[in-house]
Amino acid sequence: MTALKTLKKYFGYDFFRTGQEPLINDILSGRDVLGIMPTGAGKSVCFQIPALMMDGVALVVSPLISLMKDQVNALTQSGVAAAYINSSLTQRQIEKALSNARGGAYKIIYVAPERLPTSDIAALAESIKVSMLTVDEAHCISQWGQDFRPSYAQIPAFINALPSRPVVSAFTATATPRVREDIVNLLGLRNPQILVTGFDRANLRFDVRKPANKYRALAKFLDGKAGSSGIVYCGTRKTVEAVCGMLRAGGYSASRYHAGLTDQERHKNQDDFLYDRALIMVATNAFGMGIDKSNVSFVVHYNMPKDIESYYQEAGRAGRDGSEADCLLLYSGQDVRLNEWMIENDRDAQYPDKKTEELLKERGRKRLRDMAFYSTTSDCLRGFILKYFGETPPNYCGKCGSCNSNFETIDITIDAQQILSCVARMNERFGSRMVVDVLRGTENEKAARFGLDKLSTFGISSRPARQLREIIDFLALQGYLARTNDEYPVIKLGGRSEEVLRGGAAVQMKLPKETPKRSEPDLRETREERKERKERGARKVRKIRGDRKSIVASVAAAMLPAEKPADFGLFEALRKLRSEIASEQRVPAYVVFTDSALADMCMKMPRTKEEFLGVSGVGQVKLEKFGEMFLGAIEEYKSQIL
Ligand code: ADP
Ligand code: ZN
Repeated sequence: MTALKTLKKYFGYDFFRTGQEPLINDILSGRDVLGIMPTGAGKSVCFQIPALMMDGVALVVSPLISLMKDQVNALTQSGVAAAYINSSLTQRQIEKALSNARGGAYKIIYVAPERLPTSDIAALAESIKVSMLTVDEAHCISQWGQDFRPSYAQIPAFINALPSRPVVSAFTATATPRVREDIVNLLGLRNPQILVTGFDRANLRFDVRKPANKYRALAKFLDGKAGSSGIVYCGTRKTVEAVCGMLRAGGYSASRYHAGLTDQERHKNQDDFLYDRALIMVATNAFGMGIDKSNVSFVVHYNMPKDIESYYQEAGRAGRDGSEADCLLLYSGQDVRLNEWMIENDRDAQYPDKKTEELLKERGRKRLRDMAFYSTTSDCLRGFILKYFGETPPNYCGKCGSCNSNFETIDITIDAQQILSCVARMNERFGSRMVVDVLRGTENEKAARFGLDKLSTFGISSRPARQLREIIDFLALQGYLARTNDEYPVIKLGGRSEEVLRGGAAVQMKLPKETPKRSEPDLRETREERKERKERGARKVRKIRGDRKSIVASVAAAMLPAEKPADFGLFEALRKLRSEIASEQRVPAYVVFTDSALADMCMKMPRTKEEFLGVSGVGQVKLEKFGEMFLGAIEEYKSQIL
């Protein structure tokens, strides 16, 4: 069977997506590959299809233990014989899986990296033919990556110990050029085909704001997105609780998710969100792995995450169905401090030794600085992210907060000179608060005690304290100043201070334009405007309904409960059937069919089994399992409306 036929038979898709086919062909020809594709691009198919086509069993190393069960469930539902081996199983279950495996029961086995050195896995690998070794989340092997796992270091030894070396395929969604190099070298890939599909997600609109009041900024943003579904990521559990509480009190349809809740509540809340019973999910970064919800139309970060890798992955959960979506980051200087603290006190981090610990923390701080750069840059935001991942994008995208500029460049050369010389005269011994007090000439007892009120820079600046703090933050980010890593950070001169103090370099900074009042009334909708907007929405839906080809888009619109047109009942009916099947079989709904498969059913309204097989996402096994039920539901729906 060809790769394309295999794709249709098991996964029900008619075409390969960008990058999938070349990777599959390379693997089949015996060449190692490294596939770097953004989240949602379809990496799994790239190793699952060769696994099905090759002789023997493919071993897939993955660190995401909590996802393995779902992944294997999804494969089993599609008729692929698969199993997983990780610490969530009892010893008896592991032995059963191993003995099934020896008996040739599986084509794909997922293994946690920690299990590789165990003797039972080694024995298994001796007694079966390993067709391929796949390394998922391959960036975990690199100490340059955001998610280094020492257990990944065992993989090369495991490969070398195999009776014959299988083809090795590695995949990741986030890899800077440095991490890519590490993956190739550390995994020992042989003359690998490295395929990078573009990282750009053209339908995402990026924005960063630094509001005085984050909650108010969030509420305002949400009011402009009435009826649509999205995620609000917060830095801590406590913030999740607070934000979710405020949103609910404000009448928003919100739920919450973090590691401090019971399993039961987490599952319930996740389902509420997946089924649009709750439109807004307020969560820590524990939420989202393996979530395949297609109609997420915004992702707001209430706090700045620790690095660009995390940000892009989380923000990338918006707009997976290809429709326009917003990614908004609400930034504050406090976020930087919180993340610095987390790097120092990360309880989940695994360090082999003290030296590596220091090295990794230093790299973590570097990634954090890049994230803070993103949050304060006046350059194109999309461009910033793409450059970070090694692409060379144009410097203007026209679809981000910076490009649609609400910033203006101001010259802060004089401020920079004043601040740097003030820090120098204070002998680089004080924190930013004292620096600001001295610059502004604020009388205080401590300043007098240290004789700071006698300095020539005492009271030299007429800027408000808030602006001075902002400028100091900026100068520190740019390397003109430095901040020590103590509990009470001290401001010192940075490596670039000479450029300003002696070199006379000009310094510019983007600050929000001083005309916020003009744009505010636009955001506060009057009753009339709201009515008009709703009517506009309804007109749009009617127009779309007339156009059969765009029914997929209209289904997405129909999923917005606020404006649900009455006869989008079919999609609803199919969703209901799907959720019944899912809860009966105890699998997540998308394992039965994805939203896009249901949408395609609504568009094609198949009558026969052959026609049902023509639906995107319906393969041979799902046809046999679910065909009759779904055909029945479609039939019933048609008889009701005709
Ligand atoms: P990734 O691991 O890259 O984040 P997945 O492998 O989970 O992405 O795939 C994302 C979604 O795309 C899944 O629902 C998958 O079934 C679907 N998909 C994968 N390949 C194709 C294809 N060729 N055509 C249509 N849908 C596909
Ligand atoms: Zn841009």
